[in-house]
Amino acid sequence: MVTALRTRATLIGLVALLATLDCRADGVTPAAEIHTLLAEIYQETSGNSEGTLPDYIPALAEADPDQFAIAVVLADGQTIGVGDLDHEFAIMSAAKPFTAALVLRQSGRETIREKIGVEPTGAHFNSVAAIELHPDRSVNPMVNAGAMAAVSLLEGDDPEAQWGSLLGWYQQLAGAELAVIDGVYQSVQKTGERNKAMAVLLHSYGRLYGEPEAVRDIYNRQSSVGVTTAQLAMMGAVLANGGVHPVSGETLLAPDLVSGVLALMTMAGLYDGAGAWAWEVGLPAKSGVGGGIVAVVPGRLAIAAFSPRLDEQGNSVRAQLAIRQFASRMRLGLFGPVVPPDRH
Ligand code: GLN
Repeated sequence: MVTALRTRATLIGLVALLATLDCRADGVTPAAEIHTLLAEIYQETSGNSEGTLPDYIPALAEADPDQFAIAVVLADGQTIGVGDLDHEFAIMSAAKPFTAALVLRQSGRETIREKIGVEPTGAHFNSVAAIELHPDRSVNPMVNAGAMAAVSLLEGDDPEAQWGSLLGWYQQLAGAELAVIDGVYQSVQKTGERNKAMAVLLHSYGRLYGEPEAVRDIYNRQSSVGVTTAQLAMMGAVLANGGVHPVSGETLLAPDLVSGVLALMTMAGLYDGAGAWAWEVGLPAKSGVGGGIVAVVPGRLAIAAFSPRLDEQGNSVRAQLAIRQFASRMRLGLFGPVVPPDRH
């Protein structure tokens, strides 16, 4: 009986071992093996066509819904990727942790804590109710209201100077020249009435620190920055590497600022999907309605995935599946085992 149980336990152990990826004795998985794993995950996930395009931003609704890419950047700067890696998409809200990071760098942790807030809203990314429900109007920099407040806190004599330093910062993180996708910017400027209303509302409560339309304009430019999946992963890899750029070696953020950004991503990175994401995956992550998601494994790597179809929370369906599968097979969850996509 005992032997039978042991044999069964050994078999289960073996199956679990085969389902995950082999690591070397030093715990580092070679890049070639990661590439093979990404190719498998790409194959398994590309058949999924659940979700819809965000029709509230017409330029995004024109995307080819089948595009799909996954990229990993290791803490030593190596990039490994599969799929439509050359395709540039609008970063949208996946920019939010990096804007928060710049505010942290310029003004410190207390500024975010006191002037914006760090509590998850548990609500949709453009929830007006969340602003109304919080007694001090505090939202957090991962949702639209708090992200506009973050933009308004950027240093600079005028909005142009603020924007210049923000774009420069993204470029430093990505290690690449980046630019606004003009068609997307025009589209969000024209159709972003809800954000317009929220900016005015926050301002009326003294929680937006600039002129609402000027702030919204910078916010829309930040959302419209074009990135490839590997560039987004590189930006995340600075967070994974404790604030040191994995390629340039430059220290861009102090470790206590990185932990602040990762905490925000964990609590609200996927908005009203953040709880289920923590429950099933357990990694700080941030999504954007452009179809990108970036997730960070502190000390090891960042992974980004891109595919345009979104779930009801505005998070890419395939990107979530791909990152979850990768985290599960590589055993990367911060809280312990990651629940594979066929289980809850
Ligand atoms: N620009 C988009 C908006 O403000 C960003 C939202 C998102 O990516 N979740 O609605």
